[in-house]
Amino acid sequence: MSAMSQRQGDVVRELEAVFKDRLFTEPHILALYSHDASSEVGVRPMAVVQPVNVDEVVRVVKLAIDYGFKIVPVGSSTSLSGNATPKLENTVIVSMERMNSIIEVSDIDWYARVQPGIKVDELNLELMGYGLQWPVDPASSRTATVGGVISNGGGGMRGAKYGPASHWVLGLEAVIGTGDVIRVGCRTVKCREGYNLVQVFIGSEGTLAL
Ligand SMILES: Cc1cc2nc3c(=O)[nH]c(=O)nc-3n(C[C@H](O)[C@H](O)[C@H](O)COP(=O)(O)OP(=O)(O)OC[C@H]3O[C@@H](n4cnc5c(N)ncnc54)[C@H](O)[C@@H]3O)c2cc1C
Repeated sequence: MSAMSQRQGDVVRELEAVFKDRLFTEPHILALYSHDASSEVGVRPMAVVQPVNVDEVVRVVKLAIDYGFKIVPVGSSTSLSGNATPKLENTVIVSMERMNSIIEVSDIDWYARVQPGIKVDELNLELMGYGLQWPVDPASSRTATVGGVISNGGGGMRGAKYGPASHWVLGLEAVIGTGDVIRVGCRTVKCREGYNLVQVFIGSEGTLAL
């Protein structure tokens, strides 16, 4: 066995200990995650993992640091710019599809706290019951995730009136490249917290944090 495949085997074993049946290495599944909706041709990832909480996201980032593999976070891979397509060998796809809950809706302060994998239309269906909406409406909203839309700085037809994603994010919890969890922004529209770091993450295409 080459040193390279030995190391890949070690990585897969470590990931399996954390993700169990939410780790995928079968070739037909890896093929599904080797491209997004663009025509960009990617490479087959080493593995796909589906975290269910922030702690698991931290674990995979820390393993990436220890073992030197790459990470590509994905929502629904509907991106048309090839940024949800793995381009390098030794990449692990971190799919947010199981982190798809609405944590809280405040109809007093008009915000929702959600996990990144919830689909835009699912969020809006829930918000409708409160007389609210998240007015960021890419034409892919039935499939696209809130995390993917924020990371792509997406927008749709309603953007002409309401603006794109950058106008509709108050705060973020982000796992950065060191494995640290940071919180930026506030739950209120009036927010004085120094640098406006929220906007740095919007449109950053998974390069700064998950
Ligand atoms: C039919 C169709 C119509 C579309 N119409 C529009 C449109 O009207 N407007 C528009 O703006 N776009 C449109 N798009 C493009 C695409 O749907 C959007 O950019 C959407 O926001 C991507 O969401 P996603 O969940 O599929 O993200 P993905 O494609 O999975 O990921 C997009 C980027 O975000 C990163 N990412 C995903 N989740 C996270 C996360 N939790 N943390 C960190 N990084 C993350 C990925 O690494 C990648 O760089 C369309 C696409 C299709 C196929």
